[in-house]
Amino acid sequence: MTESLLDNNMEKIKNLEENYKVITEKIQNAQLKCEYKTKEVKLLAATKTVNPYLINHAASLGVKNIGENRVQELLSKYDEIEKNDVSIQFIGHLQTNKVKQIITKVDMIQSVDSVKLAQEISKQAQKNSLDMDVLVEINIGQEKSKSGIRIEQAEEFIAEISQLPGICVKGLMSIPPICDNKQQIRKYFSKIYEKFIDIRDKKLDNICMQFISMGMSDDYEEAILCGANIVRIGSALFGRRF
Ligand SMILES: *Cc1c(COP(=O)(O)O)cnc(C)c1O
Repeated sequence: MTESLLDNNMEKIKNLEENYKVITEKIQNAQLKCEYKTKEVKLLAATKTVNPYLINHAASLGVKNIGENRVQELLSKYDEIEKNDVSIQFIGHLQTNKVKQIITKVDMIQSVDSVKLAQEISKQAQKNSLDMDVLVEINIGQEKSKSGIRIEQAEEFIAEISQLPGICVKGLMSIPPICDNKQQIRKYFSKIYEKFIDIRDKKLDNICMQFISMGMSDDYEEAILCGANIVRIGSALFGRRF
């Protein structure tokens, strides 16, 4: 490692340590305030553009889940990530033809948004004799620029893909539209929470609704108040991406 890179990392590590402390406190406080009495809120560090050195440092501080959103980037960092104590998850849009490249490298795919993708995950999971945990991505704002299925179709979609061998549906993930007020973002989060409870309480076969992954750097406290139990945080932890 060159000296300037090392200096740069030292600065980043100092910030990371401070940010981690602030974020974990805010998560705890939001959890205490949440009327749904969420038992555990998982912090997932969104690590796009973050180097493995910093990722490993985050893990040493206590981060137990990391999320990558590009296959190429995940593969390029994979060997350098210390995997003893962290769960690596995929959180970005996943092309069907790339499933086989990550199937043995991730513990959960949070971004299942089509039957075709689910079928390929099922196929590759079986080939590797494993069960893959998945979340279904909901496009709650029905934005053309985002992937995910419509919330009205969530139950039917989940019932369909849960029949596939090698797949274990564990919950919902969503990235709501950018909102300029907290009330509006809460409406989106609450809709997702209601759908989650709705599906969970039907106790469908082969479905174990455990996780609601919503909330990022700017809105994770709102998300937790609305029932999120996985928050995916990038820039608030590692600093702004350039
Ligand atoms: C980058 C990313 C995040 C984190 O975004 P921040 O605003 O930096 O916290 C969360 N989820 C997904 C899917 C991402 O790609």
